[in-house]
Amino acid sequence: MTLRTATAVIDLNALTNNFRLIQSLSPNSKVLAVLKANGYGHGLERIAKALPDADAFGVARIDEALALRAAGIVKPIVLLEGFFAKEDIDVLAIHNLQTIVHNSEQLAAIVDAAVKKPLKVWLKIDTGMHRLGINPGQLSDFYNALSQSNNVQQAIVLMSHLGCADEKDNPVTPKQLALFKELTADKALEKSLANSAGVLAWPESHYDWVRPGLMLYGVSPLASGVSVNGIAPVMTLQSSLIAVRDIAAGEAVGYGGAWVSEKSTTIGVIAIGYGDGYPRHAPNGTPVLVNGRRVPLIGRVSMDMITVDLGCDSHEQIGDIATLWGKGLPVEEVAEFATTIPYELLCNITRRVHIQLA
Ligand SMILES: *Cc1c(COP(=O)(O)O)cnc(C)c1O
Repeated sequence: MTLRTATAVIDLNALTNNFRLIQSLSPNSKVLAVLKANGYGHGLERIAKALPDADAFGVARIDEALALRAAGIVKPIVLLEGFFAKEDIDVLAIHNLQTIVHNSEQLAAIVDAAVKKPLKVWLKIDTGMHRLGINPGQLSDFYNALSQSNNVQQAIVLMSHLGCADEKDNPVTPKQLALFKELTADKALEKSLANSAGVLAWPESHYDWVRPGLMLYGVSPLASGVSVNGIAPVMTLQSSLIAVRDIAAGEAVGYGGAWVSEKSTTIGVIAIGYGDGYPRHAPNGTPVLVNGRRVPLIGRVSMDMITVDLGCDSHEQIGDIATLWGKGLPVEEVAEFATTIPYELLCNITRRVHIQLA
């Protein structure tokens, strides 16, 4: 008897195809593939090595960038939140990492540093999301300081980030697009604005560099689970049935007896739980695929197990494969049941989940 435990099956061909679709949608742009949070749970180095045609990689933490360098990745790497400490500036120079600058502390640290080599800088402007970025009124000061500094490689890249691009009718995005265009029109520099939703829904946002994350992994970045033709999920999360049990009407299942059967039925116990990254708050009725058949989750999600209602006519057996999301069951749909977003489900996959290449 060999039962499969929680396994993320990673389909690198799907990744390649998703990447090509992004290229074909934004044919005049270079692609900065976003690999933060362990490649959205798919494995940082694995994904980097499977994207030989990416023009650059984007990460959120310097440790992620250093892990890529240690794995032999030589492509440009951009720190999407910039550096967090003055001491990091030497690390950037030594490891040839590019940094975003979004505040005056970072600007001063760069201008005042004794750098070993000029740094490549992306200047981030806040065009309306109001998270990171300099205010539009600060642009000329920052631009002048960076373009006059010997510590900075010329030319810099101008960028901003879209806050609502996943909603096609949201009026915030046209405003952000117009402001970015106006602020950067007189500068013959490379520019970057689009995340995955920008690539798909806002061609005006493409500029010189697109920065897709979620879409690379074959998941729709559009709101309300609007699906995207031509992408396929890279991760399929699976496990197996480790028990199949007949339950009489009125019996409670799992912690807290939170689910009670209305009629006699057969339940399946699947070896996956929140300890693997399956969301604990997934409610009764969240779909699970067992032998390709949709069955509802019942009862509370445990650390190592979940239970599903297989129905009274089921023929499932111990060892049969269950798919929690991926091919045949979009993670977008599971996220909606769990009142979260696919990003969170993917990057919450824990270390004990086995990785298997498709
Ligand atoms: C995460 C991130 C992206 C990618 O966003 P997706 O929605 O996953 O495509 C792009 N740009 C920046 C600055 C980011 O932080």
